[in-house]
Amino acid sequence: MNTIKQLLTIGLLITSSQIFAAQQPNFIVILTDDQGYADVGFNGSKDIRTPNIDRIANEGTKFNNGYVSYAVCGPSRAGLLTGRYQGRFGFDRNPHMDPTDIKSGMPLEEKMISEVLKPVGYTSSIIGKWHMGSHPELTPNKRGFDHFYGFLAGGHQYFPQDLIYKDIAEGLTQSPDKAWTSWYRTKLLENDKRVETTQYLTDELSTSAVEFIKREHDNPFFLYLSYNAPHTPLQASKEYLDRNKHIPKGKRRTYAAMITAVDDGVGRVLATLDELGLDDNTLVFFLSDNGGPESKNASDNGELRGHKGDYFEGGIHVPFAMRWPGKVPAGQTYNNSVSSLDILATFAGLTNAPIAKERPLDGVNLMPYVTGENTSQPHEILFWRNFDKGIVAARRDNNKTILFKKNDQKHLYDLDKDLSETTNLVKTKTETYSKQQGEMAAWENELADEPAFTGLIMAKKEHKKALAEYKKQKKNKKQEKSND
Ligand code: CA
Repeated sequence: MNTIKQLLTIGLLITSSQIFAAQQPNFIVILTDDQGYADVGFNGSKDIRTPNIDRIANEGTKFNNGYVSYAVCGPSRAGLLTGRYQGRFGFDRNPHMDPTDIKSGMPLEEKMISEVLKPVGYTSSIIGKWHMGSHPELTPNKRGFDHFYGFLAGGHQYFPQDLIYKDIAEGLTQSPDKAWTSWYRTKLLENDKRVETTQYLTDELSTSAVEFIKREHDNPFFLYLSYNAPHTPLQASKEYLDRNKHIPKGKRRTYAAMITAVDDGVGRVLATLDELGLDDNTLVFFLSDNGGPESKNASDNGELRGHKGDYFEGGIHVPFAMRWPGKVPAGQTYNNSVSSLDILATFAGLTNAPIAKERPLDGVNLMPYVTGENTSQPHEILFWRNFDKGIVAARRDNNKTILFKKNDQKHLYDLDKDLSETTNLVKTKTETYSKQQGEMAAWENELADEPAFTGLIMAKKEHKKALAEYKKQKKNKKQEKSND
């Protein structure tokens, strides 16, 4: 009798483990670009309507203290995709676009989500903005992504008629005055092939996302839907502008219209999951890659101080939510600090994907925290560094510290009482500050001594010089001609 029982139990165990293997969850990360903290309905936006993005928060868990690991695009994405502070491998700047420079982008020894999930049977796609390097060895298909539909640079033109170059090199060989913005005008890539497009860019990306899910729904998949909206240039189609007539004409209306396009895309992705019966087996994250650059794209970080590029909350504290019906509690607001670094760790935790010992993750699996199984904080402390500006920041509990090394300016805020960082407590809570400064210094010691590559800003300066030289020569030639 006992033997039969044992056999039955073993049989059941085998069956359930097989079922589990067949039901590896799907993962979707929907990332927006330069979207302000207050510019989603779930964070209280009054003028920008995001009913579909809000579904992720309302049918899942909304993070009140969700952070990214850097205040601008490239390094923030490098942290998200590796689950590690990107300063550990010198990704401290936006990489410049140079297909001949293998250093300018994600180092080959670092493993991105796509590379971590491949050995456990996942098919991965990145749709949209890459920004992790333009050298042929650094492109998505070489980094674990089975499918790529998008562009390599840090931004893009939105209308199909403006996408005219066949590659970055063609843009670069144009006269220097056009070179700088030419990357934004390349035709989209599907894997390594240039394709002709017909739709407004955000719609194009959403369509590709829906097609990918439909194509791959029988196998576990990871979809990184990396919208460049609402990053500049501010461009929206009439359809989306017309749906935002309640906002006065101008930058804010265009910005809102760009978010409406994203929101429609999110709606299409969620509807596809529902249609295919994948809802209960798909974990979706939504977040922005950094805070809104308010003066540039008319975004709104609400009560947060500062904007994109800053280490005040406005640069790094972003709209952030996760949804997994039946697994992640619905309608919950989670208050402890979480980070974009946690996304990879969550996926690895759910799939038992191996993580190399020599490259330990800084993120943690969020599942036990959001379900309440673990009631402690996911992170005792979170850190940030901007190497070029000499800024280092940290948050431990409610204490946020920022050190501006160049002028030795010290800041300490109590974020529970003062989320807007208006009252600097550094003179009254000296001990708290100095302890945390020590922790910041110890963490910095773990990072690469200097950035691994020249940044976009430096390349831009070089370009300005080249452009000035080009204009001078042009003028001289004109003068010579008129002298003749
Ligand atoms: Ca960004």
